[in-house]
Amino acid sequence: MKRSVIDILDLSVEELNGLMDTAEDIIAHPDDYADRCRRKKLVTLFFEPSTRTRMSFEAAMYELGGNVLSMTDAASSSASKGESVADTARVISCYADIIAMRHPKEGAALVAANNATVPVINAGDGGHCHPTQTLADLLTIRREKGGFSGLTVGLCGDLKFGRTVHSLINALSRYDGVRYVLISPEELKLPSYVKEEAIKPRGIPYEQTESLEEAMPKLDVLYMTRVQKERFFNEEDYLRLKDSYILDPAKMTLGRRDLIVMHPLPRVNEISVAVDRDPRACYFKQVLNGKYMRMSLILKLLEEAAS
Ligand code: ASP
Repeated sequence: MKRSVIDILDLSVEELNGLMDTAEDIIAHPDDYADRCRRKKLVTLFFEPSTRTRMSFEAAMYELGGNVLSMTDAASSSASKGESVADTARVISCYADIIAMRHPKEGAALVAANNATVPVINAGDGGHCHPTQTLADLLTIRREKGGFSGLTVGLCGDLKFGRTVHSLINALSRYDGVRYVLISPEELKLPSYVKEEAIKPRGIPYEQTESLEEAMPKLDVLYMTRVQKERFFNEEDYLRLKDSYILDPAKMTLGRRDLIVMHPLPRVNEISVAVDRDPRACYFKQVLNGKYMRMSLILKLLEEAAS
């Protein structure tokens, strides 16, 4: 049966664990998967800029032996003539076996999923969510820390507009024993709906601070984020807030020896390049893990659609 993934909550904890297990198997036995999507087509429909996510989906499909059709620029598509997302999704369903879509408007992926006749994967909808980044994040944490239980996770930067933060909190909150340190300027605090829906009902311990230095020694995982320039209404606010946090080697000395540092990328200034040499920096591993998790998800949704 056709099934789409719009929100990370569309996948149960058992399914998340299963996707990570498949990804591990792909890493261990890539040849076993090289032909699994033969004659299947993925369409990547990107109405908003992306390097990593789109290429990661495309690389994932190629490594499964499938083919890719790509729309990389909304300006050159029929959207610029006024076509609705609903119509685009219907039309693309005639060419694709599965669609990965990114759109600047919250909810656009859901509209596409409701109108497509093939599975739709949300590759980011505005400031709302980004479930496949979360799949990459989960696999990275599991591989580096051995699991999720008992971890103190610091999320730092733009917690308001950062869709990867919202999706990650929704996912991690379903694992026992996680706690959060939310590090942001007052204006970029985590939206209360995320706290009310994901954190508070489960009684998950969390603290909010503006100080990265104070938070550092407490953390098992530090998830840095970029201030989301494209979601600001005025440039002055962005310029004032953009360099609120810069993780550098001096701040890294405050972190535990087994800390891991993550970032969904692209990085602007929030992690200095000198940190890349620190073995605790995991953001490039995260990129690779994202490809394996997208392979795992494409496989699962195509298998379900065929059954
Ligand atoms: N690549 C991530 C996203 O699409 C993070 C970012 O852009 O800051 O949300």
